[in-house]
Amino acid sequence: MPLKTRTTSATCRSSDPSFFSANGPFFRQRFPLSRRRRKAALRTGHYLLASGQVLAYDPGIAMKRISLIVPCLNEEQAIPAFKQEVDRVFKEHLAAYALELIFVDDGSTDHTLEMVKKLAEHSPEVKFISFSRNFGKEAAIYAGLEAATGDYAAVMDVDLQDPPSLLPEMVKAIEKEGYDCAGTRRVTRQGEPPLRSFFARAFYKTIHRISDTHIVDGARDYKLMTRPVLEALLSLKEYNRFSKGLYEWVGFRTKWFEYENVERVAGETKWSFFKLFLYSIEGIVAFSTAPLALASIMGVLLSFISFLSIIVLTIRELIWPHSAYGWTSMVCVFCLMGGIVLLCLGILGQYLAKTYTEVKKRPIYIARERSIAPSN
Ligand code: UDP
Ligand code: MG
Repeated sequence: MPLKTRTTSATCRSSDPSFFSANGPFFRQRFPLSRRRRKAALRTGHYLLASGQVLAYDPGIAMKRISLIVPCLNEEQAIPAFKQEVDRVFKEHLAAYALELIFVDDGSTDHTLEMVKKLAEHSPEVKFISFSRNFGKEAAIYAGLEAATGDYAAVMDVDLQDPPSLLPEMVKAIEKEGYDCAGTRRVTRQGEPPLRSFFARAFYKTIHRISDTHIVDGARDYKLMTRPVLEALLSLKEYNRFSKGLYEWVGFRTKWFEYENVERVAGETKWSFFKLFLYSIEGIVAFSTAPLALASIMGVLLSFISFLSIIVLTIRELIWPHSAYGWTSMVCVFCLMGGIVLLCLGILGQYLAKTYTEVKKRPIYIARERSIAPSN
């Protein structure tokens, strides 16, 4: 029986059930189409025919697919508004593209997962992965990238702080201007506590100076990428992941989109000041060994000063006997030395700790439940 299809398994028989499951979302259902849709299917040529009946028809075959990867931690309040906005953008501006919406539930303790499952019942484009516990946003991004089947994939926060309305321009940059990625950066930090903004700026300045990987100030994780970029990111199997750095490390041509900060649509930020501080240390340790060099330089400098002091004090003692005394100054010097030694040990410890977690080779995440398998 002749089968007409644009998929690679063109020779497969429609009666072979493995064909339908092996081709994932494309040919799973058997349902009759309306005359109008059958005509549309025939026009595009993306259909399977057996005895004149269209066995399965998924407009996604004809269209390019965009996978949106959405990490969620206790986001039940933000999900409805997010879905609505994404639907609006796709309906109004990206109607020529099929959507795959992958929610990654990062161990939520509220009704995030139930809400996503409910959405999936009514919207076939909604997929989900649910972690066995909170593994962090970076792990959620990795899981989403691993599962994405789209021609393009974008990582996006669910709180609408990464505006979906930028997507059409981002797609244009890739398709019309030949970029591999469309990245986004916030140019303002309105609504953010000033102390947090100050440290965030200091972090970007520091890492800019000490790392070869150029991390753009205000860069967001929100990025649209082509499959080669996605695959390059997945080829980096490190456990301690810092996406902003990884995005830069893999290279490729990126067009940057700037936008003003928008406040969260609902819910609260999941990042405390301390969590952000630890995250910034993770970024520095992952992308620079300058702190280790700093420890060595401090060691050399202090040894030199101590050596000079010993010579000066010895000469002074020879010229003016019993002049070099005073335990208070000695205590101060000891404390200073102790502090510096501990600081250097701490720096070393950070690198050792990261190496330790890397060599254990634990999985980046563990899924408790999922509606989409890793496909990359
Ligand atoms: N998130 C996550 N796991 C975490 C922390 C955050 O999946 O451990 C998700 C969160 O649900 C949101 C995104 O990551 O979709 C960004 O988090 P948030 O908005 O709290 O960060 P902020 O925008 O304040 O930096
Ligand atoms: Mg946010």
